[in-house]
Amino acid sequence: MPIQKNIPIQKKPLLIGAHMSIKHGFGEAIQDGASIQCKAIQFFTKSNRQWYAKKIMQKDITLLNEALIKSHIDRKNVIVHASYLINLASSNNVTAKKSYDGLLEELERCAILNLPYLVLHPGAATESTTKEGIAQITFFLEEIMQKSSENVMVLLENMAGQGTVIGKNFQELALIINGLSMSSQKKVGICIDTCHLFAAGIPFDTQENYESTWQSFDKLIGRSKIKVIHLNDSKSAYGSHVDRHEHITKGKIPIKSFKMILNDPLFTNIPKILETPHASLSDHLMNIQQVEYLYNN
Ligand SMILES: [Zn+2]
Ligand SMILES: [Zn+2]
Repeated sequence: MPIQKNIPIQKKPLLIGAHMSIKHGFGEAIQDGASIQCKAIQFFTKSNRQWYAKKIMQKDITLLNEALIKSHIDRKNVIVHASYLINLASSNNVTAKKSYDGLLEELERCAILNLPYLVLHPGAATESTTKEGIAQITFFLEEIMQKSSENVMVLLENMAGQGTVIGKNFQELALIINGLSMSSQKKVGICIDTCHLFAAGIPFDTQENYESTWQSFDKLIGRSKIKVIHLNDSKSAYGSHVDRHEHITKGKIPIKSFKMILNDPLFTNIPKILETPHASLSDHLMNIQQVEYLYNN
């Protein structure tokens, strides 16, 4: 029998990063991320709890571009998250209109910054049925996709499914995407949040469940649509529909689940963003090191 030598396989570097504050500008958000070993970064381009957006100036763009060159972070791994106020499923005409305009404006801001992905919570059908909510999201998204830049994709995020929130399962996300025209579908992808998957009761604990979950995703949407992963542990129980993020390995998601995601070859080139609790950058660094450890051991 040939002697088996234990040659360590060189793994690809992990595309891990975290959500950063833009309090001191886009450039500093990149610098902060680079200082804690981020290979990917997410930020809001404006306050996430206000409709108002400060105009992006040429100097903001220059500072972002300079910071990207210095940090060696690839621009396609810099993700923008849309405001939490946007609700394309709203039955309130004023909110629906603000959401429509708000999403268009956020897409334009991504185009100005030359960033390719905008993560969006699909919406909540507060005073209508889920079916009506999905129909309204699809209708608005179709119009918005026809008006917005060719170079920016909207990534619909899977949700924990609290209350009337849409996107708690792959079927709801598929209904939105499949309701769009072919040209609009090309500009819509998916962001998978591990905490939301778990809280929504989508199983990925054993190898068998992991595979069947992604098989069902492939049947409905197709994994090539996944452009970003939000890597979060969950404070709340499996299937609770309660969205509470926790530090990686400190929550209720089995460690094995994270290991399977991190080592899945289909996710190797997908940026993985931490949205775990943080008082300072060192909290993010702790999670990055934990994730690197899980990936390598
Ligand atoms: Zn989100
Ligand atoms: Zn969440």
